[in-house]
Amino acid sequence: MINIIDDILLKDNFTHEELMILLASDVEGRNKIFKKAAQIKEDYVGNIVYFRGLIEYSNSCVKNCYYCGIRAGNKFSTRYNLTDEEVFDAVRYAYENNFASIVIQSGERVNVGFTEKISALLKEIKQISKGTMGVTLSLGEQDLETYQKWFKAGAHRYLLRIETSNRELYKKIHPDDAMHDYNVRLEALKNLKKAGFQVGTGVMVGLPFQTISDLADDLIFFKELDIDMAGLGPYIEHHQTPLYIEKDRLISKTERFNLSLKMIALLRIMMKDINIAATTAMQAIDPMGREKAIKVGANVIMPNLTPIKYRENYQLYEDKPCMDEEADECKNCLEARIKIAGHTIGYGEWGDSLHFKKRKGLI
Ligand code: SAH
Ligand code: SF4
Repeated sequence: MINIIDDILLKDNFTHEELMILLASDVEGRNKIFKKAAQIKEDYVGNIVYFRGLIEYSNSCVKNCYYCGIRAGNKFSTRYNLTDEEVFDAVRYAYENNFASIVIQSGERVNVGFTEKISALLKEIKQISKGTMGVTLSLGEQDLETYQKWFKAGAHRYLLRIETSNRELYKKIHPDDAMHDYNVRLEALKNLKKAGFQVGTGVMVGLPFQTISDLADDLIFFKELDIDMAGLGPYIEHHQTPLYIEKDRLISKTERFNLSLKMIALLRIMMKDINIAATTAMQAIDPMGREKAIKVGANVIMPNLTPIKYRENYQLYEDKPCMDEEADECKNCLEARIKIAGHTIGYGEWGDSLHFKKRKGLI
């Protein structure tokens, strides 16, 4: 077994079968994967972590994904919307603390009022930061025209997870209707590229019915789509969602966490120059989850800048960490943790995806 792992790791592109062997490897094999991923990270993107201040703009959502705590059908969720001033306060904090980038994330809303509100916020964010703030959006599926408008208004990166590249599984975890169509999501990812964005996608790891073969396919999907950024993490059940009914089928949280780490490491080996986020869901399972992700290949972290009074309402999953930490505490704790992980923070730098720059012939 160990020799097989050594053999496979001599290469840096893997077949589906090889990925399955790597994903199923034991602790010894896993450590070899992690070691190689850490080396590749150091060689290609350096031991630097970039901050993106996370603004969870609203938990209103028109969709009904079966796994998500803020789905439209969750009657127990108290809905909120940040005021413009609350957004700008968070932006000022990011600007003054030299974060250089923010992420605006929200439940999905598809209407002209929302589109224009985001465009207006983007323009003001640029003003407040004297044109310096890098903006990533994570606002779900929109049409090409909307993506183009937001790009023009100043956003330049976009995160839209495919959630799983297995169409059958996608159907199982979403309502089977036009609003939750795998093809539409795929089309949206392509439109984001067309609009000029650096495009990030990702999956949830450890979903009910998901197999190791599915995860191997996910990695191949990322490679084929030629993504610039990735954000992936464990699926964590939420008791107010329909998918909760499958909770007895799940692998343990520790297994989901460990598989997520392996996915990050393998992705770093396969796509050496992309940006990979150490997601909050990693920390929901393991208090050192994000640091562990950084050590095996992740290079982006998103400190939460959402005003504290709203945080408990943005619970996509249970046990979300940092629910009551002020931005300052959050920053200090992350800073220390990142240093412990042997990395520096790329203050004042956008830390754009090198993969994107190469794809565009910019470097
Ligand atoms: N509405 C936007 C952005 C907010 S949701 C969108 O769907 O793209 C952001 C991500 O949260 C989703 O892509 C999904 O992968 C993740 N998420 C939702 N529910 C989750 C759960 N129960 N466990 C882990 N991740 C979850
Ligand atoms: Fe809405 Fe996104 Fe949650 Fe789906 S995952 S219900 S689109 S917030």
